[in-house]
Amino acid sequence: MKEIRNRMKLEFESRSCNESFARTAVAAFAAQLDPTYEEVSDIRTAVSEAVTNCIVHAYRERVETVYITAEIRGERELVVRIRDKGCGIADIEQAMQPLFTTAPGEERAGLGFAVMQSLCDRVRVRSKPDAGTTVTLIKTLKLRQ
Ligand code: ATP
Ligand code: MG
Repeated sequence: MKEIRNRMKLEFESRSCNESFARTAVAAFAAQLDPTYEEVSDIRTAVSEAVTNCIVHAYRERVETVYITAEIRGERELVVRIRDKGCGIADIEQAMQPLFTTAPGEERAGLGFAVMQSLCDRVRVRSKPDAGTTVTLIKTLKLRQ
């Protein structure tokens, strides 16, 4: 287990106007690792997808709280946890399949988890129906000269 070298916590209401706040805040925290432009863009997009899922799926119409923690582990590992106390996911494996969506009528493509997985080294999902979901994004940033 790598040493945790820095940590931050964030809480905000599940309003879509907070999506850009969340991705920008996490990107600002990650800036201390001197990421490349591409890495910043990957982190922003992955966090956005996870936060959007909390807003549109977990809480549906309700305004509740989204929780984020971000850690720097070891020299270059960024670990971001996005958590909600919403409806939860009954079948995680199915939910993570590309093109699977429970909201096709809302023009959802079912690609959020696939995007997160393509941009991060690891994506872990823990969920309990009616209790909530935690998505953990892990990305090791490249060594810089
Ligand atoms: P897209 O992200 O392309 O707009 P989507 O959100 O449906 O579409 P994913 O992000 O891959 O696609 O999520 C797949 C499915 O997993 C969702 O349709 C939803 O049923 C479920 N899901 C994802 N995140 C959560 C969450 N935080 N709480 C409850 N259900 C979730
Ligand atoms: Mg999604």
